[in-house]
Amino acid sequence: MLLATEYEQVIQIKMSRSPEVKPPYCVSAYLVDGLLIDSGLAHTAEELTDFLKDKEVKTVVNTHYHEDHVAANALLLERYRVELLAHPLAIDKINQPATLYPYQEEVWGYPIPSQVKEIGNSITTPHFRFEVIHTPGHCDDHICLFEKSKGWLFSGDLFVATRPKVVRPEENQWQVIASLKKVKDLMPRVLFPAPGSRTVTDPVPVLEETIRYLEDLGQEVTELSNKGLSPDEIRQQVFGDEAPLAELTQQQFSSLNLVKSYLKRE
Ligand SMILES: [Zn+2]
Repeated sequence: MLLATEYEQVIQIKMSRSPEVKPPYCVSAYLVDGLLIDSGLAHTAEELTDFLKDKEVKTVVNTHYHEDHVAANALLLERYRVELLAHPLAIDKINQPATLYPYQEEVWGYPIPSQVKEIGNSITTPHFRFEVIHTPGHCDDHICLFEKSKGWLFSGDLFVATRPKVVRPEENQWQVIASLKKVKDLMPRVLFPAPGSRTVTDPVPVLEETIRYLEDLGQEVTELSNKGLSPDEIRQQVFGDEAPLAELTQQQFSSLNLVKSYLKRE
């Protein structure tokens, strides 16, 4: 299922296997001036490729290697000979077969390996110039794209919510905080996130609130850890029982992961 909406010169393409296209099981790609930012999930790869038939896409940038951001790459390359670009740390992961958990296979599907190349410091399209900002934390290879003249920030999975309660095991929240500060300092005017469904106008206060929440949470987790509490005990004290999403995702999205993501610093 695919839903396209337009904001300024940017087309948001929201995709989901289910007809409801609702978070957390939907993801957005963005099309602007012949540049496609992310290519979505395997279950909608054909639909997305058909949708882009007359859109003259020249370049596809993957914000990171996750299976819900790269899965139409191979088809877009085959059909439209697009250039595929991602951060150097993402190349091997995107170009080789992925290993997925059952929930990932069901919700997103297996991406076909593609032939992504290393992205440089910027991307130029006929009307715009996008700065490439390395923003690790969600994963090592994560990048955002920033179009300065418009104030557009394409933030991939860096920003999910102002008060996230669950994360994947590979996340490092200290890096997420540093990356959020980096993009906030660019003073974006509009934020186009991949997860969920909303375009965020006037995102600086939203980013500030998120940074504050994550820093406070990090301090609380660190203090409890210093007192000798285990990650499970900290999770219970801070969040209570584990989030229902944890069981649905084979513990890949959990509050325990969020606690552990703060204990990676030392
Ligand atoms: Zn991701």
